[in-house]
Amino acid sequence: MKQVPKNVGQAITLGVATVLSIVGIAGYQLSHKELVIPRPPFQQAVVVHDARKVQIKYLGNGWYNVGDTIDEEMLDFQQLDTYFTGASIVEGDAIYKRIYGKSYPTNKAVDINNLRYLKMLYVDYDGATRCGEMIVNAKIAGVTLDIFRQLFEAKYPIARMELIDNFWDTDGNTTDQASMHANNASSFCYRTIAGTSEQSAHALGLAIDINPHDNPYVWKNKDGSLKLEMLDAYEQQMLEDREHKAHAITEADLAYQLFTKAGFDWGGNWDNPLDYQHFEWKNQ
Ligand SMILES: [Zn+2]
Repeated sequence: MKQVPKNVGQAITLGVATVLSIVGIAGYQLSHKELVIPRPPFQQAVVVHDARKVQIKYLGNGWYNVGDTIDEEMLDFQQLDTYFTGASIVEGDAIYKRIYGKSYPTNKAVDINNLRYLKMLYVDYDGATRCGEMIVNAKIAGVTLDIFRQLFEAKYPIARMELIDNFWDTDGNTTDQASMHANNASSFCYRTIAGTSEQSAHALGLAIDINPHDNPYVWKNKDGSLKLEMLDAYEQQMLEDREHKAHAITEADLAYQLFTKAGFDWGGNWDNPLDYQHFEWKNQ
């Protein structure tokens, strides 16, 4: 199940306007290939490997946008990998225009070629299948697609999954607050660690936050007490009795298990801050 279309005889090449790089999941290697459409294995499903759109032809023609709900009957569960796609971002393209000057300011640390735009399915808190998006570092694009595919298969609830630019406020840190309050899962945002001048792993697209309003991050005072004044009332109560709270990530949680097994550290195990929403790639 971990393959990209490789049999050219079974693929149709798209026109020049849609030439994109796609992510090969096998071995987490990224490969640059011309965009191809595999011939449908079943008459009812045609999946286009375009990270910007999940197109499924089923008694009609559907183009899904981020946030759209998707009728499960329209999915081919034998080929789930095909709904978890990644693409390069090219200066001037639609994704670049959405992020430039926001999560991707002019900077010397992160080249646009080192980022990948992912389109993924997820199951929301109401059990609906939705189309989500995320930008991560190319280094972790394959492993991220793999983890989120497994979360989807397990119907792991994720509240929301959009680019942080959809919540853009004054700067990276105020925007992070807005995205967290919207319970939005996200990764790349060129910013510092809140309250410090240190570059966040999010600035390199090497950290992923999941269900952040249900999984707050909180700094400790010198005496070990939590700086609760940084949090809203909802977040404060989400720090208590986490083992019995819905959507609270703990070590018993599937996201914790998949991310840590794949080579991420969990912020919930940190000393200061405690960052329950945060999974960070170890091999930076
Ligand atoms: Zn984080």
